[in-house]
Amino acid sequence: MSAYLELQGIRKQFGDANVLNHVNLKIAEGEMVTLLGPSGCGKSTLLRCVAGLTEIDEGQIILAQKNIVHVPPRNREIGMVFQSYGLFPNMTVSENIEYGMKMRGASKEERRKRSDELLAIVDLEDKRHHYPRQLSGGQQQRVALARSLAVQPKVLLLDEPLSALDAKIRKSLRTEIREIQKRFNMTTIFVTHDQEEALIVSDRVCLMNKGNIVQEGTPEAIYTTPRTEFVARFMGSYN
Ligand code: ADP
Ligand code: MG
Repeated sequence: MSAYLELQGIRKQFGDANVLNHVNLKIAEGEMVTLLGPSGCGKSTLLRCVAGLTEIDEGQIILAQKNIVHVPPRNREIGMVFQSYGLFPNMTVSENIEYGMKMRGASKEERRKRSDELLAIVDLEDKRHHYPRQLSGGQQQRVALARSLAVQPKVLLLDEPLSALDAKIRKSLRTEIREIQKRFNMTTIFVTHDQEEALIVSDRVCLMNKGNIVQEGTPEAIYTTPRTEFVARFMGSYN
């Protein structure tokens, strides 16, 4: 596989704790990979390292043939969506979506065109002048998704984007996210602790435990052919 994003030997320690132990991961262009694993296994830390929000102790991060380890976060061309939406409360939906484009010097017309396009995709055209507090959690998360796509990132990082939502919305939004990911052919890392979610949304699942990727493969393979007791238990392969 020719990798579009490649993590090589990523190591991160907080104090004495080895949170990431030489993690290697290759992702093809347009692929959606899920990082799955129990709470505390290092998923968010790994995403933050890719985004440049956490400095790595060792390793390389290659994006589109370029080592980005020393590139500051704002120049990495990586979009990130968090569990807690993180919208600007004092800006309307369209202002939120256009903010990143504005910072990059896009014209008003360009911004408007792009945000209208994205609002149609996330089905919130009638909410463009609303403020985040006037929206449901699911709607806010769709705005966050549109905002991250507005600046046309090379990679999209989704850190448990559905975890704060109730079960019904979670199911419909995961389908929506997958459709949008395919439509943009967006190279995506999706983090979750929910094995069902991982099996449904991704091209490939990487199961993490204690700072290591312990098994990776297609959803089918990882579910039907767990290589260790841990993987079998976590995936619910025994029933
Ligand atoms: P996950 O997202 O898989 O739940 P995290 O990446 O958030 O796990 O955390 C992995 C481990 O690193 C945890 O033990 C957590 O307490 C620790 N950790 C994360 N961030 C920090 C930090 N800034 N300082 C110290 N320890 C941290
Ligand atoms: Mg986390």
